[in-house]
Amino acid sequence: RLWSAKREDGETRVTADVTEPPRFAFIGVRACELNAIAIQDRVFLGGPFADPHYQARREDAFFVAVNCGQAGGTCFCASMKTGPKAEAGFDLALTEMLEDGESRFLVEVGSDEGHDVLAALPREPATAADEATATGIVARTTASMGRSMPEGNIRELLLENLEHPRWDDVAERCLTCGNCTMVCPTCFCTSVEDTSDLTGTETSRERRWDSCFTMDFSYIHGGSVRSSGKARYRQWMTHKLATWFDQFGTSGCVGCGRCVTWCPVGIDITEEVRAIQGGD
Ligand code: SF4
Ligand code: SF4
Repeated sequence: RLWSAKREDGETRVTADVTEPPRFAFIGVRACELNAIAIQDRVFLGGPFADPHYQARREDAFFVAVNCGQAGGTCFCASMKTGPKAEAGFDLALTEMLEDGESRFLVEVGSDEGHDVLAALPREPATAADEATATGIVARTTASMGRSMPEGNIRELLLENLEHPRWDDVAERCLTCGNCTMVCPTCFCTSVEDTSDLTGTETSRERRWDSCFTMDFSYIHGGSVRSSGKARYRQWMTHKLATWFDQFGTSGCVGCGRCVTWCPVGIDITEEVRAIQGGD
């Protein structure tokens, strides 16, 4: 909730939502997710206006990252250079080492807070052999990645192919359900919803996640700008992989593969790029 208002005795009182959020600790955060959080930071905290709601939750958050010991079939972080090893943005990072049925963790410290937490735990210094084992685990994960984003200048490729026949092809399969945007860790669009009570004395405004796959998203006076599924899929993918660079200086995709996993008809962003590139 962003604010609420109440009319009493002929006067209207507006109250901003200033509830103090709880302090969050995120346990088991993957490298792709840390990269996505860095993107969200740029969106919500960069520029002249920081989002106070995001800022309040973000400021004191504590992150325990985990370096992936196994890649999923839909993962492609290695080709996006966002994983599978957590490089920054964590307080502590763990690599699980399984040997002879026993589990041990190599811990890396990323902040003073992480240092203080580790200091309170039973631990022993890592040996060179431990470090080599952990490096080997991450290297194996990199080598077993289920997918890869094609190489080359994808921004240019997509922007030069806005009328490529593949957009019609994907539009035939896409249900415009918006699942991909709901699970994507870098999608940040929101809308606001106003509600009032039946007597007309109380009202409030809430912020909700939105999706560029809905008709309402691009509605302006008289209708939706992107009325076809083709236009909406193209908007999503070209924003993620092309115009995001112009807006924020990086790709909007961290290769987590969630949009592939959760698409009910199996649309795969890496396959769509490859098709436009003219590959298999
Ligand atoms: S999840 Fe799949 S079907 Fe749904 S909008 Fe995204 S690409 Fe289309
Ligand atoms: S576009 Fe797909 S793979 Fe890329 S960050 Fe979003 S959900 Fe993950």
